[in-house]
Amino acid sequence: MAKVYNWQLGREMEYPHEGVRPAKQFGMVLDTNKCISCQTCTVACKTTWTPGRGQETMFWNNVESKPYGYYPLGWDVKILDKLGVQDAGGAVYQGKTLFDAAPDGERILGYLPEDADYAHPNIGEDDSAGLMTQGIHLTLPHMQWMYYLPRICNHCTYPACLASCSRNSIYKRPEDGIVLIDQTRCRGYRECVKGCPYKKPFFNSNTRTSEKCVGCYPAIEGGRQTQCTITCIGKIRMQGFISTPEQAREDNPLDYIVHIAKIGRPLYPQFGLEPNTYYIPPIHVPPAYLYQMFGFGVEQAIAGYRKAKDDPKLLGALLLFGACKEIIHHYKVDGGLAMGFDEKGTELVRVPLVEPIHVRAAHDEKFQAFRTNIT
Ligand code: SF4
Repeated sequence: MAKVYNWQLGREMEYPHEGVRPAKQFGMVLDTNKCISCQTCTVACKTTWTPGRGQETMFWNNVESKPYGYYPLGWDVKILDKLGVQDAGGAVYQGKTLFDAAPDGERILGYLPEDADYAHPNIGEDDSAGLMTQGIHLTLPHMQWMYYLPRICNHCTYPACLASCSRNSIYKRPEDGIVLIDQTRCRGYRECVKGCPYKKPFFNSNTRTSEKCVGCYPAIEGGRQTQCTITCIGKIRMQGFISTPEQAREDNPLDYIVHIAKIGRPLYPQFGLEPNTYYIPPIHVPPAYLYQMFGFGVEQAIAGYRKAKDDPKLLGALLLFGACKEIIHHYKVDGGLAMGFDEKGTELVRVPLVEPIHVRAAHDEKFQAFRTNIT
């Protein structure tokens, strides 16, 4: 095992390979407060990448309702239960990672889902926590809650899939950090399916190899954001490149959201993989649940999000979500506008921080028409 630094844990940890960071790291920020679980992202991914035989139960992107939705069934509660108590109390995670907890002779603590666990892609949809008895009416604060969690492969800095593979079929691209499975080397041992705690590699029963989210790498190479991002009708996602905290750039919207405003949190950072998708946590969910899912700093993230309108840089970054198809490498806020630029500094898009409002007369004399103001 090599010693590597995991900034999400605030400490060094053991990993089966030397830690080599890519030149740029694929990243994504998702705002859970805006997701409506329309599954447009899921359909866009499915029709682009996995419409073939053997891929029927394969969802590289899925959206599940939390706390009771999962795909595959119980993916997170099963591995959390195996890992045991996790000490997530401070800036440095003191508990065990999945690499620390590996059984003798194995590289990571994992489990292989049953085939039946893939039978119901949207199980638990819209089930809420808390009792909803007949005749209940809303009182505040109310403890009936749920939210939507969209998920892709995290293109982890320390991928468990890569560490688990005895065939060395999985590699992390040095240019952009995207994690891929070499289909010519894979023999379908499913070690990656077992090892990835997020259960994002899938076994193809037709080709008898494992497959996973490819980060839409042809689009990335052409400067475009992923399919799940550009098709999202809620504009909840921004895909780009994320730096380490010490190299964070104030003009990179992902860096600003995650490292400077600190409102984006990784999913289950205690697993130790340094996942590179970040979530703006749901603001209405009890903190105890969110601590386990997004680690320490979650209350600070929610407080920062609630005050986004007071921070023009943050507001500008959030308003650039879904504003264009291209990857925004740089951005600035000036004169009431947020502007996004590509890698060479060419302007891609500009959006106003405040939408112009036109209030129309209820009765238009000229056309003798009655009109309402609904937006
Ligand atoms: S989320 Fe899973 S499949 Fe994706 S890079 Fe991390 S360990 Fe590998």
